[in-house]
Amino acid sequence: MSKHYALLFTSALSCAAFAQESTTRPILSQRNHPGALRQAPPGRMVKVEIPHSECLTEAGYAELLDRIALNREQYGIPTISDATRGAQPFFIWPTRPRADFTDYGYYTNNNFVDHNPLVNGNLLDWNCGTRTYDWASGNHMGTDIILWPYAWRRMAEEVMEVVAAAPGTIVDKRDGYFDLQCANNGQPTWNGMVIEHADGSTAIYMHFKNGGITTKGIGETVVEGEYLGLAGSSGSSNWPHLHFEVHDNTNAYIDPFAGPCNSFNGTTTWWQQQQNYKEPNINHISTHYTSSEFYQCGVQEITYEQSNFMPGDSLIMRCYYRDLDNNALTNLVIRDAQSNVVASWDFYSPWLFGATTWAWWYYLIDNSWTTGNYTFEATFDGETFMRPFTVGMPIGMEEIATLDFSVAPNPANESVRIAGLPSHRALLRVIDATGRVVLSEQTNGITHDLGLAELSEGVYQLQVEADGGVGTRRIIVAR
Ligand SMILES: [Zn+2]
Repeated sequence: MSKHYALLFTSALSCAAFAQESTTRPILSQRNHPGALRQAPPGRMVKVEIPHSECLTEAGYAELLDRIALNREQYGIPTISDATRGAQPFFIWPTRPRADFTDYGYYTNNNFVDHNPLVNGNLLDWNCGTRTYDWASGNHMGTDIILWPYAWRRMAEEVMEVVAAAPGTIVDKRDGYFDLQCANNGQPTWNGMVIEHADGSTAIYMHFKNGGITTKGIGETVVEGEYLGLAGSSGSSNWPHLHFEVHDNTNAYIDPFAGPCNSFNGTTTWWQQQQNYKEPNINHISTHYTSSEFYQCGVQEITYEQSNFMPGDSLIMRCYYRDLDNNALTNLVIRDAQSNVVASWDFYSPWLFGATTWAWWYYLIDNSWTTGNYTFEATFDGETFMRPFTVGMPIGMEEIATLDFSVAPNPANESVRIAGLPSHRALLRVIDATGRVVLSEQTNGITHDLGLAELSEGVYQLQVEADGGVGTRRIIVAR
């Protein structure tokens, strides 16, 4: 168990690595509910600052206009004239979750268009706030819809689909570029689409995952809601997201969000149903066996999630928030299988505002936790989010072969070699017959030697988590 505790208390270090400028603070305001069986658990919070990317620079946009002009010639796309011009489009939301996605949320609007033309941190979004950014020579002129949380993992899982916000003609399409970019230098190597609408306005959809783009070509038309591609991190980007940017028929900027500080189209929205400035949600609620966090730009996150806990385990409960406001209340509850409340506590956010934040709490599972099913619940902004977990239910020893790798020798004595891993970064866990994690290790290569000297003789389950999949093998330690 010593490994377990060591992992738990490395949290401050590992959280700092999760994203630039992230911070942790102790929870400032929580209280016990009268009658609660358990003390409110200690916890911490993390506010994540997503690195800014120069999605499309002025030079990049000029290059794009040249390409569109060439495409018009090559594919015979007529220029829309005053005589043929249609009405201004009204957009649907340009992303949707994959059809089989069942979690509570997958994105947040991390940044909007900057209406302050000055650079160097002079910021003004459509609602007169500062949810936008500058880079050294320019302003951010689109809406960044970012995957949140587990962005790289969910990019690989193709969770965020990009759809046509309005019908129109494809006037540019790019694919084949590297899509795990972490560089932020205005490079034009983005995968994506540009759609021209009936009124001559255009929507730019950027940063697609390589290879997922529609088979439709330049000059063809798309209907509203038609699949265009998958969110990725191609071009000038360092977080999987969609950059959605709109121009009118004179190439002037449009901000589809109508608001008091929209200096382009003012109070005329371009949305069919405009989202609120803040859309509070818990995108993901989860239980983990450690508070550790593995984040590396371009690499799928290791989640350390677990759903069964044995006496001696740490139970880490997390909420990943979208748009968490200052002093916003979350009531957290743990219920047993009979729906009795066994713990209840309140969390008030201490931050001014956070588009991407999480908070976590933990209990040490001791013998006072009876074996059975539990639910971790969070009630926030009028909605209740739930995550089931179990205590004391040993996992099965069945082998799951969704990941292909080899383990030898087996039975093993001092160590075992795991070869043919699908990724250089995999998480290995060895679980004993009671369901307890007895070894946890991260690989750094597709072959990994796992020391077993600490383990007593017996049957164990080896779990490998990599590239969005989990594979298990039964291993036997015999001496
Ligand atoms: Zn952007």
